[in-house]
Amino acid sequence: MDQSTPSADYPEAATIADFEANLAAVHANIAAAAARAGRRAEEVRLLPISKTVPAERVRLAVAAGCRHLGENKVQEAKAKAAALADLDLSWSVVGHLQTNKAKDVVAFADEFQALDSVRVAQALDRRLQAADRTLDVLVQVNTSAEPQKYGLDPDEVPEFVRGLAEYPTLRVQGLMTLAVFSADTDLVRRCFRRLRDVRERVRDMDADLLGAGELSMGMSGDYEVAIEEGSTCVRVGQAIFGARATPDSHYWPSAVGPASS
Ligand SMILES: *Cc1c(COP(=O)(O)O)cnc(C)c1O
Repeated sequence: MDQSTPSADYPEAATIADFEANLAAVHANIAAAAARAGRRAEEVRLLPISKTVPAERVRLAVAAGCRHLGENKVQEAKAKAAALADLDLSWSVVGHLQTNKAKDVVAFADEFQALDSVRVAQALDRRLQAADRTLDVLVQVNTSAEPQKYGLDPDEVPEFVRGLAEYPTLRVQGLMTLAVFSADTDLVRRCFRRLRDVRERVRDMDADLLGAGELSMGMSGDYEVAIEEGSTCVRVGQAIFGARATPDSHYWPSAVGPASS
């Protein structure tokens, strides 16, 4: 698929029927990609990413069937969770976290997909202990070797994950990555394969360290490739909600390549 023309491909969903149609299309693509890989569609969960979408429009997506939503930034997510507190929703934080925001994550999120430092693990653990609760976490891996991307180097992951056993409040359930932003599907695919390889390396060391062994990989432009390579969670924003005006560089440092232009 061509990732170089994101905006034109994603008209804004403005009604419940729009959301139903977009969700049905994404689910059909998920099923087709899973079938190509000899996998069952139920092995892949769809995590709609509602960043930049106002709470009132998220309500329409919820009416169309979304119950579990993902956001990149904690402040925005917290405000939206509060505005939609009358609905029975679960929230995932999928973006880089500053230690001083750990308290906010613990206040409303059910899952954190971007763990990449001991300092953040410690901050979360302290707040989780105080709140007497646990949190599902995925470890973010930099599979594209782009220095500006967040996440651990693949070689660092086994030791890092082993160290997380010190924090019983953190329920480690797998790994997360963002592929390189490129229209070259082979390069994108290589990133996803690398994440799967890292999971196997960790499992070889200790099969219990990664919980469910999730691979959160794939976004609007590349989720079908990700599913072919073993994704268990695709994080899809624009293909459900419509194109975002905010450039991706707002969410990860100096995103480069055609997808951010
Ligand atoms: C925004 C975002 C996504 C979804 O990107 P789309 O292009 O809207 O599908 C996925 N993962 C992360 C970490 C994001 O910030």
